[in-house]
Amino acid sequence: MASNITVKNGALVFPDDPVIPYIEGDGIGPDIWHAAQVVFDAAVAAAYHGKKRIAWKEILAGEKALTEAGTLLPDETVKAISDHVVAIKGPLTTPVGSGFRSINVTFRQVLDLYACIRPVRWVRGVPAPVRSPEKLDVVIFRENTEDVYSGIEWASRSPEAAKVIAFVRELNPAMGARIRDDAGIGIKPISESATRRIVKKALDYTIAHGRRSVTIVHKGNIMKFTEGAFREWGYKLVKEQYAGNFRVEGEGAADARIPVNDRIADSMFQQVILRPDEYDVLVTPNLNGDYLSDAAAACVGGLGMAPGANIGDFTALFEATHGSAPKYAGQDKVNPGSLILSGAMMLEYLGWREAAELVARGLERTVQNRTVTYDLARQLEGARTVSTSEFGALVATNLR
Ligand code: NAD
Repeated sequence: MASNITVKNGALVFPDDPVIPYIEGDGIGPDIWHAAQVVFDAAVAAAYHGKKRIAWKEILAGEKALTEAGTLLPDETVKAISDHVVAIKGPLTTPVGSGFRSINVTFRQVLDLYACIRPVRWVRGVPAPVRSPEKLDVVIFRENTEDVYSGIEWASRSPEAAKVIAFVRELNPAMGARIRDDAGIGIKPISESATRRIVKKALDYTIAHGRRSVTIVHKGNIMKFTEGAFREWGYKLVKEQYAGNFRVEGEGAADARIPVNDRIADSMFQQVILRPDEYDVLVTPNLNGDYLSDAAAACVGGLGMAPGANIGDFTALFEATHGSAPKYAGQDKVNPGSLILSGAMMLEYLGWREAAELVARGLERTVQNRTVTYDLARQLEGARTVSTSEFGALVATNLR
């Protein structure tokens, strides 16, 4: 028997035997999925001795869906995620520059998964390019539905771009004069409502996880009514609804409440490298968050090990943060660490903290034993290179 995760009276209800849909993904997706699934089942078994278990349900997206169902993203797939509330996926290929919209972006939009959450922390033993990778331990909350990602754009010299250019010139001749006739046009909407809900997610997470500070990361000095407004609306929410738990840094004397501050995005890229231990929870609009997540992950040893999730009010889709690396597809070669750690995040979301901790422990031990996939092995002296599936099996053994 298996049961569905449900939402009752505005709260998630998790059964002991939830059905969790998974998408293998394209390219290296099947390799890393199979390795990761072994780890999740081993962790749940070791933590709960049969009292809890996950009933996995495969759903299709990407190339496998195209082959088997004739479309890259079947409606049933979206419905299954929505019905089952929690799901996990491997990477999906996005063709560059064609008319086809990214499946990843589509999921975020149609399921309204407005928060992209990326914890970035060093896994002991992973070779990292900075001197003290252990000092970086942040959780990035990136707004997922707006900004230049909303897909509102027109090609250079298209009739639509010409219309928009003409409209702006009519609205404000001085501004319009700054747009060249042959410009492509993209629109960057950032709303107060979407800003409030992502900042709320970050503040609630900070309280629930006992984190130390919240930093709003924006480029408001240049883009005043979008990124600047993101900052203003963030502080406004803190003062209106969270004054019991948070204080705006620099306003009044410091007290026991958690400080909220802000940083300009470009300076934040220096800060994660130069003063990583001064930051904890970061909340940011879409584009900044995209760049910053990868840059931060690089500091602690790269994307191969960085987990992530896209979460709405309740629905949560956990995913590997790297792409489908097509050149390694089917070679049982790449690092499944990102998907494994995303699964640990998923277990934590279910409230299965013991299992989540076992996954992290198994991964850390495996890296410390220097039995790692090629990407880490080439940087670790004395390492033994193992395959994707071997790595998964070792993590599953080492977590006990
Ligand atoms: P990529 O992350 O797939 O690969 C870049 C390189 O990083 C690889 O060639 C490989 O050397 C390395 N790499 C990536 N994952 C690794 C792993 N697990 N272990 C070891 N090494 C790893 O990026 P890309 O080549 O820019 O993108 C390929 C495809 O993936 C594109 O279609 C892109 O749109 C898509 N993509 C999907 C997601 C997603 O599904 N969330 C994210 C990023 C990119």
